[in-house]
Amino acid sequence: MALRVAVVGSGPAGIYTAEALTKQSPGPVEVDVLERLPTPYGLVRYGVAPDHTSIKSIATYLRRVLEAPGVRFLGGVELGLDLSVDDLLTCYDAVVYCTGAMVDRRMGVPGEDLPGSVAATDFVNWYCGHPDAPDFTLDAEDVVVIGVGNVAVDVVRILAKTADELRSTDVPHNVLTALAESKVKRVHMVGRRGAQHAKFTLKELRELGDLLNADILTFPDEVACADLTELTRQIRGNVDVLQSWSSRVPENRPRRLEVRFWLRPVEILGVSHVEGVRLERTRLDGRRVVGTGEFETIPADMVLRSVGYQSVALPSVPFSEETMTVPNVAGKVRDREFVAGWLKRGPTGVIGTNKSDAAETVRTLLAAVTESPREVRVDDLLRERGVRPVTYPDWLAIEQAEEKLARTLDRGERVKLVGRAAMLEAIGRG
Ligand code: NAP
Repeated sequence: MALRVAVVGSGPAGIYTAEALTKQSPGPVEVDVLERLPTPYGLVRYGVAPDHTSIKSIATYLRRVLEAPGVRFLGGVELGLDLSVDDLLTCYDAVVYCTGAMVDRRMGVPGEDLPGSVAATDFVNWYCGHPDAPDFTLDAEDVVVIGVGNVAVDVVRILAKTADELRSTDVPHNVLTALAESKVKRVHMVGRRGAQHAKFTLKELRELGDLLNADILTFPDEVACADLTELTRQIRGNVDVLQSWSSRVPENRPRRLEVRFWLRPVEILGVSHVEGVRLERTRLDGRRVVGTGEFETIPADMVLRSVGYQSVALPSVPFSEETMTVPNVAGKVRDREFVAGWLKRGPTGVIGTNKSDAAETVRTLLAAVTESPREVRVDDLLRERGVRPVTYPDWLAIEQAEEKLARTLDRGERVKLVGRAAMLEAIGRG
């Protein structure tokens, strides 16, 4: 008899959990990776920017896990809609929740919901071809991006690049067309603290300085930093790069990027649409960001709020509104229920961080759970409810359709299909 485990979510945390189960379990194990979308890989497919091909290649590692004996992918199956927690606990010896952090954090300023004020999560979903993403046209000339993390850097880079630079990537074709027609001229990326506090990493920051189509600049006063000796190498690197941009002479390239610091948004301005962002200059009082009472307005036709992701509660699963995570001890939530990834620890770290995180959860799980006879099979429950999961071979058919589309459009190795209908058609269920 095998230990049966349901992993909910097929992003990196879910797949690393499946891998850890197959590697750590002393006996046979059967892992079903359940996913509400028809496609696996979560943020690797719908979060990593199309031009970051080396990070996207993590999918090659993740696919080997889905192809391992004892592991199954069941796409198009949603917890709370198709199956309940009780169903899972009936069919499996243990359940691991790995649904990540799917929505944007709020800034809590007036005007945040004006048309033209967009969550970076939605924008990223759009250019990554997420089936639930809204559509965008890039009519804006001035864009303000709030936040100085790696997601902000990604959206700034995608806004600044030409469509030609992205043509060989897997970016959906409707997105490539919108980027080719983009009217964006100026992008302002705004941090509420100093250059030394920015969350982006050096490698990602440097890419902005190498953009062919955009001048980049910073302001000397805003990137000044009194004492660099106390800073880590990574942060010193960020500050050095940002300071070097303050003396760059603009070359009249079609786009201009300004990286601004010590400014916090106090209001998104506009009547029926975004017209600008009112910002207050800041300083630190200890570790607290406080306003100085000096204000500045940056005109904008589009505001991208890139202030972090957050998790959402799963039906009938404990959730802390304070930490926006599932309360757990080393991954254990309740008897036979576990959690891994961003839902466990919050949206921080690189993709690889989820590997050690999942390994911890699986150690806890294997110490707490043993296999026992389970009479109800999830396949039977799903069949009774008229749910036909997207299987791994179905997913391979979607991949093949994406490769075919790339050949038809004379673009790169693959072009993402957009929308569930196109994906279902690719697996013969159109
Ligand atoms: P993040 O790294 O947490 O950055 C969020 C940014 O928003 C920070 O600059 C933060 O400033 C700012 N912020 C938060 N609340 C704000 C507010 N109310 N007003 C103004 N600014 C506010 O989040 P992220 O960029 O979404 O990235 C999430 C994770 O994914 C990170 O671990 C990131 O490294 C990872 N990621 C990695 C890559 C890559 O490796 N290429 C790409 C994308 C994402 P404070 O610091 O002052 O709070």
